Formats: sequence, structure tokens, C-alpha cells
Amino acid sequence: MSPATAASQVSTAELHRAGQALAAESARFAALGWMRGTSGNLSVRLRDDPLRLAVTTSGRDKGELGAEDVVVVDQAGAAVPDQPRPDVRPSAEAGLHARIAARSGAGAVVHVHVLAPVLAAERWPDGVVLRDLEMLKGLGRAAHDDEMRVPVVPNSQDMGVLGAAFEAGFDAATPALIVARHGLYVWGGDLAEARHRAECLEWLVSFALAADR
Ligand SMILES: [Zn+2]
Repeated sequence: MSPATAASQVSTAELHRAGQALAAESARFAALGWMRGTSGNLSVRLRDDPLRLAVTTSGRDKGELGAEDVVVVDQAGAAVPDQPRPDVRPSAEAGLHARIAARSGAGAVVHVHVLAPVLAAERWPDGVVLRDLEMLKGLGRAAHDDEMRVPVVPNSQDMGVLGAAFEAGFDAATPALIVARHGLYVWGGDLAEARHRAECLEWLVSFALAADR
């Protein structure tokens, strides 16, 4: 085993803790109706170099995940060998999680199928502009005279295409991405920060839609 491989090895106990945290956060998003029909996925960073993320498994009800419903993926979003549960698989979307984590340095990425940002992308396909709203502070921005444009990228089943579109529009001060006709990605230092940002962004785009009639 190479030194790099040994350093990136994730212990069962460590993965269990990550799985517990991901299950708890998934249940909160599911309760909001943001992870309907097994959709969406959450990830946390386990290692920096080489990048390793713990990602929720594919195809499970996100309101009913257990600590074991987690997969370790690499910088391409592919499951690494020697998983505690080799029978479970990451979502294909893990590839975009990994790309976002690598580019932004985020400790956690949440991907949810929440309606308001998708509606906003339909109205503003060149990006959703938000400004002069108190809730912008929840995304690390100023409440006044600080325009945030949340990028919108076309949906694709090819994570390479989505990843390239994400990187083309990446702005370190805007920790969110809307995939048109699909859903929302938000990231932060940890799962709680990513969730708080997702909650604030949902409020902001709901306001923008309601105010722009
Ligand atoms: Zn999705």
C-alpha cells in the first residue's frame, strides 16, 4: 500500500460518524420536502489530498437513512475500494459533489430537489440575482449594496458537463449552484453551515419570485 493510499484510508468508526451526521441532516431536508422520492444527496469531506468524501447512498429514502447508508468516494465521485458496505453505491451526482468540494474547498455539499430555486432558474436562466435582502447575510454576503448572482447551469446526466459548467461560473463568494429543471447545490464549511445557507437561499429565491410578479 502506498503512503498516499494509507493516508487516505478511512476507518469504519470515522465513516460511521460521518454516516450518522449525513443521515440526521438528510432527515431534516426530507422533512422539509426537499428530498422527495429518494432524490438528493449530501456529502462531507473526509480527506483533502487525495480528496475523499462520504456521500449518502443512492436509491434510499432520505428520511430513513441509517449511519451505514454512506459511501466513500474519490475526487471523481467514484466509490473507493474496500468500502465497509460494498453493496451500496453512490449517486452519479457524487461526481459533482467532488468537483464542488475540490474547487471551493467546502467541507460539506448538499444537493436537494427544492422547488423555488428551480422555478427561479426558469425565470432567470442567466443567473438569479439577489440583493438588498437581510437574509443574504446567511450566505456570507452583505445585506446592502452587494449583488449576488446565483449561477444557473443546464441540466445534464453527464457529471463532466455539469462540472465544467459549474467551474466556468464559479465565484468563491457565492456558495450555491442551481441546475435548471433539476435542483440546488449549496456548500459550506460543515453540514450545518451548508444547511443554513440552503435554507436562507430558498427564502431569498422565494422572495425574488414572489416580488417579481
Ligand atoms: Zn438531483
